[in-house]
Amino acid sequence: MGHNIFRWTLINGIDGENSKMSMVAGALPARKEVAEDLKWDLSPVYKDDTAWEADFASVAIALKELSRYKGTLADKEQLLQFFRLRDKLAQQVETLYVYSHLRADEDTTNSHYQAMNDRALALYTQFGEEQSWANPELLAMDEAQLRGIVGDGSDKAGLGLYRQKIDELLRQKQHVRNPEIEELLAQYAQVAQGPRTVFTMLDNADLKLPQVLGEDGEMSQLTHGNYIVYLQSRDWKVRKSAYLGMMSAFESMRNTIAANYASQVKTNIFEARARNYKSALEAALGPDNVPVSVYHNLIESAHRYLPVLRRYLDLRKKVLAQAGELPDGKLHMWDLYVPVIKDVQYDIAYGDACKKVLASVNPLGMQYAQVLAKGLGSRWIDVVENKGKRSGAYSSGCYGTPPYMLLNWQDNLENMFTLAHEAGHSMHSWFTRDNQPYVYGDYTIFVAEVASTCNEALLTHHLLQEEIDDNLRAYLINHQLEAFRTTFFRQTLFAEFEMIAHRDAENGVALTADHLSKIFLDLNKKYYGEMVEDDDAVKIEWARIPHFYNSFYVYKYATGISAATALSRQILQEGQPACERYLGFLKKGSSDYSINILRDAGVDLAEPSSIDQALDVFEDFLQQFERALGQGGK
Ligand SMILES: [Zn+2]
Repeated sequence: MGHNIFRWTLINGIDGENSKMSMVAGALPARKEVAEDLKWDLSPVYKDDTAWEADFASVAIALKELSRYKGTLADKEQLLQFFRLRDKLAQQVETLYVYSHLRADEDTTNSHYQAMNDRALALYTQFGEEQSWANPELLAMDEAQLRGIVGDGSDKAGLGLYRQKIDELLRQKQHVRNPEIEELLAQYAQVAQGPRTVFTMLDNADLKLPQVLGEDGEMSQLTHGNYIVYLQSRDWKVRKSAYLGMMSAFESMRNTIAANYASQVKTNIFEARARNYKSALEAALGPDNVPVSVYHNLIESAHRYLPVLRRYLDLRKKVLAQAGELPDGKLHMWDLYVPVIKDVQYDIAYGDACKKVLASVNPLGMQYAQVLAKGLGSRWIDVVENKGKRSGAYSSGCYGTPPYMLLNWQDNLENMFTLAHEAGHSMHSWFTRDNQPYVYGDYTIFVAEVASTCNEALLTHHLLQEEIDDNLRAYLINHQLEAFRTTFFRQTLFAEFEMIAHRDAENGVALTADHLSKIFLDLNKKYYGEMVEDDDAVKIEWARIPHFYNSFYVYKYATGISAATALSRQILQEGQPACERYLGFLKKGSSDYSINILRDAGVDLAEPSSIDQALDVFEDFLQQFERALGQGGK
């Protein structure tokens, strides 16, 4: 409790999904040459490095106090004091880390801040160790006794504040074994990392990617980095060469990767059984308190809307074929990433992008827009690129600090969407911290992408109302359609693959390369149907998905975009009441289970209709796209 991996990931909070490595050829400015108003202001965190050092020294000593409470937690007063001390120290440790990591990211070649950051991380590890005895001690207590001590939650000034945290802890109780078994499981947890480590090594070090056809007609080395660039080429020969090259590399290792993935699945099943879960799926969803039905609903909704996905693919095929980009008039797997609408010229300066993003959040009401405007004006954002700065974009910070954002600004549409996205994260953090005590002042990965994706949807809506250029409008609509195809349908297909593989293994089926490829090929046919050529090469794609070693994770991408889409639709159609529910969601932090918080906001993921509501928006966009292109609209 208090500290889980989710909070840690959130303060890391690096968003890769919207960032594109900039390819600026000219010399970048040094950090000190960047104008002050384009740099974030970290003085609210620490005045200077000296203040950081002083805090670091005092926290390092104070951490030792935690162990004084060992063996005393059955005492009401001691328990309260322990929780308060732990919260205070946790916040200090996070603040130390936030300052050092933001400073280190300003210029990654700066070894002074790199060293400070390493020390902050070590302090975090030490914090974890100093209190590692506490949860086992609480779990060893009689459940009724512990609930009695904490009370019904009404005593918010006392232990009542911690009722939700205690509830989360006690939910695990039936899955905690006796100390001897727990010790074995803890040791086994390191062994269980094996398949993930093996895959990472294979994927990043040993796998030989072939030479493929480049746009200049010459053969060039395929890499994980240029793969997507080649898939977006307007030259079908380049796309085909890259796609088949990537698949052949994984095909050549099919038996090794299958054996490794089978080990990952067996590990999940072993751990689920060791901890009294009915299935690996139930064990994976348990910590988020997400019912298995949510997972099944998601897949069933995707199936219901497959005809709409196929209509989109059919349109893609027609448009690309008319442009002479499909030599045989057929759509292949390597034709899925080439943009249907050629890149639009859209230059926008940072200041103008801020104004547009601010205008786009108007439907969320005055307070939201005012806080964001104030944040943009008080240097929450580190805007431009400089020598050595961390690439990409993210939102970061912790309780008690401003919700900072890192950008590497370029004057284009993509960057404006990145700004809207990161601002969504930061505003979620701001509302949560402004309304919750420290202990609930974070939010889970399960809901993290909802606020960011909702802001992107609002920006799209705003631009579609404002912009009259037909090509730009078509581009924006296609941007949304692609988000659904890749974030909803593709990730749900992956989620279904994981579900079937685990279920088969639980039933004693051997997960051979042939079997895994059959599952994947069948799913690919089910999702894309007649619209995409039955290219055999796709059957190996399961072998190249790193996320499969973080099992049952990708479904959160699909539920995230579904919730964000449904909420943005409600905000735009209902107005005030939906807006208030949404702000309620932003303010709740982790004070309740994620699934409950979303339900109160208007999206009940346990109900199939919630996902359907999002997919209706997908269909609406498709109709607009069909009209914009003058194709088969209904
Ligand atoms: Zn994000």
